[in-house]
Amino acid sequence: MDQDIVDRIETVRNRMAAAVSRSGRELQDVTLVAVSKTRTVEEIRAAYRAGMRHFGENRVAEAADKFGELADPAVIHGIGHIQRNKAALAASVFDWIQSIDKESTLAALARHRRDTPIKVLLEVNTSGESTKHGVRGDDELRALRDAVLSEPGFELRGLMTMAPFSDDGASPEVRRCFSDLRELFLTLAPDAPKSFDTISMGMSNDFETAIEEGATMVRIGTAIFGRRGER
Ligand SMILES: *Cc1c(COP(=O)(O)O)cnc(C)c1O
Repeated sequence: MDQDIVDRIETVRNRMAAAVSRSGRELQDVTLVAVSKTRTVEEIRAAYRAGMRHFGENRVAEAADKFGELADPAVIHGIGHIQRNKAALAASVFDWIQSIDKESTLAALARHRRDTPIKVLLEVNTSGESTKHGVRGDDELRALRDAVLSEPGFELRGLMTMAPFSDDGASPEVRRCFSDLRELFLTLAPDAPKSFDTISMGMSNDFETAIEEGATMVRIGTAIFGRRGER
């Protein structure tokens, strides 16, 4: 199992390097987040030994359990919807929260101060799919940005999106979602603090397209750990 994970990480890194060079950038310009939701602590340890330091989890309690056991210093990204009754735990477990799309979530998190600010990405619904979370309109996005900026417990780092699921991760529709997010990022950047530097987009089936369209962070589960539900 360990060796499979090590090999898959190497393959992902090579594919990332090729996509990064197509976009005229360098590998270090794109952060790889290993999405470890549903994976065991042993699988996480294997990825850690292969050099992974950023991990993504969508369930607060699961993340707390697993990373409590890991002991090694990792950067933990919350990538799923956060229920208000889990806000206290989320604020203590997650270094980054990538899935902020409501002021009420921010308010619930802000009640639980920590030593270092939570790094926040605003989730944008670029696909228009009603099954997906994320802010839709410009006004809503600006209001959410202002709410993050007004709270010292948060550091505004950027934007996040998910493309529609498709077998073809390079379809025009997937590409459009990613280029829309980058456009939005560039629109907000001039008025944003220096810390606003992150465009999180791209998963196992579409990360190369995302990198070509300007992703600075990709979130990859299946291509690192294998299919979920198969061990
Ligand atoms: C599960 C998940 C991923 C990773 O998906 P894979 O297809 O396994 O790479 C990335 N981002 C979010 C928000 C997720 O929920």
